Amino acid sequence: MPPLKVYIQVSLVAIAGLLLGALLFWRLTKAIRARRAGAIAGNLAAVTAFAAATFGLCYALIPCFNWPLASYCRGDAAQKWVALTFDDGPNEPYTSQILDILAQKQVPAAFFTVGASVSRSPEVVARMLREGHTVGNHTQTHRGLITLGPDEIREELAGWERAMAPIGAPQPKLFRAPHGWKSPFLGKVLAETGYRLVGWTRGVWDTDRTGAEVLFHRLTARPENGMILLLHDGVEGAPGADRRDLVAVLPKVIDHYRALGFRFVRLPEMMRGTDP
Ligand SMILES: [Zn+2]
Repeated sequence: MPPLKVYIQVSLVAIAGLLLGALLFWRLTKAIRARRAGAIAGNLAAVTAFAAATFGLCYALIPCFNWPLASYCRGDAAQKWVALTFDDGPNEPYTSQILDILAQKQVPAAFFTVGASVSRSPEVVARMLREGHTVGNHTQTHRGLITLGPDEIREELAGWERAMAPIGAPQPKLFRAPHGWKSPFLGKVLAETGYRLVGWTRGVWDTDRTGAEVLFHRLTARPENGMILLLHDGVEGAPGADRRDLVAVLPKVIDHYRALGFRFVRLPEMMRGTDP
C-alpha cells in the first residue's frame, strides 16, 4: 500500500485537474450555446491544450503509461513468479549485504545501477555479474530525464557505459529511468542505443524511513503473479544511504513469497516469457 501522503498528493492533483477540465469544458459549452465563434475557438483551443498537457504529464510522470513509449512493467500473470529489482546502487555496505542474502537464498535479481556509484564500487558490480545477476543502466547521475534533450540523455547513458567499461557490458541492454520519469526524446535515444525500457509492477516507497516492520508489510502486501518488485539498495546514488531496514527484512520477504509458492526469476527470463 502506498503511504497516505502519496494518496493525498495524487488525489489533490487529480481533483485540481478535474476541476480545471470541467471549468474549461463548461466555458466551451457556454460559448457554443451563445454561438460566439471567437469564444468557441478560444475555448476549444484551451480544452485542447489542457488535454495535451494532461497527456504529456501522464507520459512524463507515470512509469508504465505505455504510449507512445512502451516499458516492460510486468511478467506473464499466468506464472507464479516474481522478479526482484534493486535501484540506485551500488551503495556499500548494503549492496554487498544484499548480495550475501541473495547468494544464501539462491535468488536472482536485477540491479539498475548509477554510473557515479559504479565508479565508487566497481568490485561490487563485478560481483553482481559474476553471481548471475542482471545489471542495467540507471543513468550516470540519477537526474530526472523529463526536461533533458536527446544529447543530455545520450550522455547520461554513455556516462554509465564508461563507468561500466572496466567491468563489462551487460546484456541484454536494459534501462530504467530515474523515478520512471520520461523525456519526450527518450524513445528516440533508446531506439538508437539499443536499450529496452524497464518499469516496475510494484513500488513500495521502500526508501521511506518507516522501520522494518512497516517495510515488511509493504513488501508482502498484495502479491501478484508476474510482479516486478522495485527495491532500492541505494538512494539516488548518494554514498552510504542507510538501507539497514531493507537488509533486515529481505530474507523474511524472500521466505514469505516462497511460502506462498512464488518462484524468483531473472528479469531477462521473465521478459523472454520463459521459465529458467
Ligand atoms: Zn532511481
